[in-house]
This record gives sequence, C-alpha cells and structure tokens, in this order.
Amino acid sequence: MSRVVIIGAGQAGASLAARLRSKGFDGSITMIGAEPAPPYQRPPLSKKYLLGEMALERLFLRPENFYADQNIDLRVNASVTAIDPTNKTVSVGGESLPYDMLALTTGSAPRRLPAAIGGTLPGVYTMRDLADADALAPHMAAGKKLLIVGGGYIGLEAAAVAASRGLEVTLVEAAPRILQRVAAPETADYFRELHQSRGVTLIEGTGLERLLGETHVTGARLADGREIACDLAIVGIGITPETALAEVAGLALENGIQTNAQCQTSDPAIWAAGDCASFPWQGGRLRLESVPNAIDMAECVADNMLGEAREYHAKPWFWSDQYDVKLQIAGLNAGYDRTILRPGDKPGTQSVWYYKGETLLAVDAMNDARAYMIGKRLVEAGKSPAPETVADPATDLKSLV
Ligand code: FAD
Repeated sequence: MSRVVIIGAGQAGASLAARLRSKGFDGSITMIGAEPAPPYQRPPLSKKYLLGEMALERLFLRPENFYADQNIDLRVNASVTAIDPTNKTVSVGGESLPYDMLALTTGSAPRRLPAAIGGTLPGVYTMRDLADADALAPHMAAGKKLLIVGGGYIGLEAAAVAASRGLEVTLVEAAPRILQRVAAPETADYFRELHQSRGVTLIEGTGLERLLGETHVTGARLADGREIACDLAIVGIGITPETALAEVAGLALENGIQTNAQCQTSDPAIWAAGDCASFPWQGGRLRLESVPNAIDMAECVADNMLGEAREYHAKPWFWSDQYDVKLQIAGLNAGYDRTILRPGDKPGTQSVWYYKGETLLAVDAMNDARAYMIGKRLVEAGKSPAPETVADPATDLKSLV
C-alpha cells in the first residue's frame, strides 16, 4: 500500500488529498498543516471575512467530518521540520513519518518590513492567514486611522474593507502607481478613482522611510519627509514562496520549488503545487499566486501520483473584490505592448484587453462578466481578435468566439 504525505494543509494540499480519494487511491494520506485550522480559503480574509460579513465556518474548504470520512489523516498545528529524501521520511513533532510519495504544498509567506524601520512594532499587521485577519478585525473600527503600505491587490482590498467600515485610510505605494506590477494604467486609473471616491487617500510614487512609534505604531515618515499619523498599519508588499524545507532537502529551486511539466521536483518521489512551486511555461518558468492555480496544479500532482503522466497546462485567471466592484482577470499580461480600453454596457463597467503585437494575452474585466468570459475563452483557445475590432464599440463581443 502506498503512503502519501502532504506538507501544508492549505488550498493545494486539500485539493490534492481530495483528488486522490475521488480517483480511488486507497493508500494512506497524511496531511500536515502548521496552522490550527483545517484547510480554508484565504481570499475572503481581505474581503468579506474582514468586513465581518462571512462566518468562520464558511471559510473552511470541506465540512468538519470530511477528512475522517475520507480516511485522510489531517494533522493541524503541526510543522514539518525536515525532509530526509534518502530514507523517505519527514520529521514532525519528534516523529519520523515515512512516505512513498511526498507533496510540498507549503504556500508562501508575506514580506515584512524590517524591524529597523519599525516593521515589528505592535499595531503593524500583515494579511496572510486567519490569525492575521482575526488579530486585525477588532481594530477595523470607524474613526481609526489606518496606513496601508503597498498598492497591490491585498493592500487595495484591505483599503476597501477599512473605508467601508469608516476608517480613515491612507495607502502609500512606492512605485509610480498602484497595481504597477500586475495591471495596465487603465486598470489602475479605474481603481484609483474608485478608492478616492470612497475617501481613501492614495499616495503613489513615494516610498516609506520608516514607521514611527515607541511601543506601538503611531505613524509613518515617507521618503519625501512627509509624516502621516496612524493608529494601525497593514503591510501588503508581496509574498515569498515557502521553500526552506525544500532547500535544506537539496531540491532544485528557481523562483520557488522547481518542478517539471508533471509537477515533479528534482527528486522524483517529491511533487510540489501552489504558491510555493514554479513550473515550465512558454520556454521559461512561472509561479502563480492564485486559488485556481493551487487547485489545478494540485489535481495534476494527484493524477501523476496515480501514474497518469499528465502535463500541467496552467490557465491563469484571478479575481479581486473591492467595494461593489468585481475585477476578473483572464490570462497573463506579461510582455504586453498595447492595451484596448473597452467600456461595458453599464456605467462603471469596463474591460482592458492586453496585446503583444496582434496576440491577445489577457483581459481585465471590471464588473463586466461578459467581457471576462469571452476574453477567457479567447485567451485559452489562443485566438486573437484584431485589436481594432475589440476597440470598436459596435462589435458584439459574442461574435468574437
Ligand atoms: P496556502 O493556502 O497558503 O497553504 C499553505 C499551507 O502550508 C499554510 O497553511 C502553511 O501554514 C502550511 N505550511 C507551510 N510550511 C509548513 C510546514 N513546514 N509544515 C506544515 N505546514 C506548513 N487568490 C485568488 O485567486 N483570488 C483572490 O482573490 C485571492 N485573495 C487573497 C487574499 C489574501 C488575503 C491572501 C493571503 C491570498 C489571496 N489569494 C487569492 C491567493 C490564494 O489564497 C493563494 O494563492 C492560495 O491560498 C495558495 O494555496 P497554497 O495551498 O499554495 O498555499
């Protein structure tokens, strides 16, 4: 009987275990998670859960009895401290646990500001796990002054929740504009206007010099010398893949844990999936930080543990919720040289189409589900309507697919 051990009880780990059982795997499955909670979805942590509009139980990916019913040995509050690839064991809580096949679904960790510039002061929060959200929630009270460092999706979503709850929000972004790394100026302009209309102060193109305070954060000094007072701060400056265990075990790393097309690491008995893993993509390597990728890659790992020799072909998509706007993104815009802004049918709706030459790469759709669905079908099919056709308001998008 085969023994599977999964390190990391998050989105990818849970998807992998469930897929193995749904495909009839009858060996043992042990899933080890460092957090106290059973596997849960993270996206609501910076959205409805933080807003207080979603109960804890709804975060959990599976009902409480699922793991026992499926004969999955879920161990929470337990960290794997080492992997021994030669003897095929992992160390957890003083125990040496044997495996035949091992999966690394260890996710990622938020980047923090160094202690030397106030990053560890009380009142400074990151947004990665349930404990972060629960620590932050009681402070999201009307009238408080919140400073957000970082204008990516996490920072903007936190700003939306805080502004909706009546906090006075200032967001500081060192890059020339918000969403600089991930979206075109048109998408950034849309969200800048949205946030400003809700009273959020956005400071772009200005870095943080340091957070201020003796025993608790009280403010920030910016690179231009400006000082901003705050009662609390949220730092949303990106994540780094959790690769420490893999590194010590001698697995190859490249922008995360390196896998081949079948999601296998440099050790054929060890697979990796989700935020922690990079895979071959268009002649290079790609690592994605999204729920759909965590699920699809983990399912590919399960299939390959069962001997299918299936290649992982990612179909990137992502979403973000801010106030009453749903942003849906299909494809990856890296390398784009041109964008088309297409207004939607109703006020406040629009889509941004990314092209490289004549090739459609990606679509951002803001409250425009139709543009998203059609864009996604086109990108996934490798079809590229002429940019002029997309730009023409008379074009019925449906005619493009
Ligand atoms: P995770 O879900 O992070 O799970 C990894 C788990 O492994 C963690 O619980 C960790 O504690 C555990 N672990 C690590 N090391 C060990 C060890 N040594 N021993 C035991 N356990 C270990 N994606 C979207 O697509 N849309 C969104 O809107 C969106 N919003 C987000 C909002 C927030 C606030 C956050 C934090 C993320 C968001 N994401 C979103 C990203 C998405 O949640 C992640 O891409 C996804 O959770 C990745 O799944 P994973 O299984 O790779 O990692």
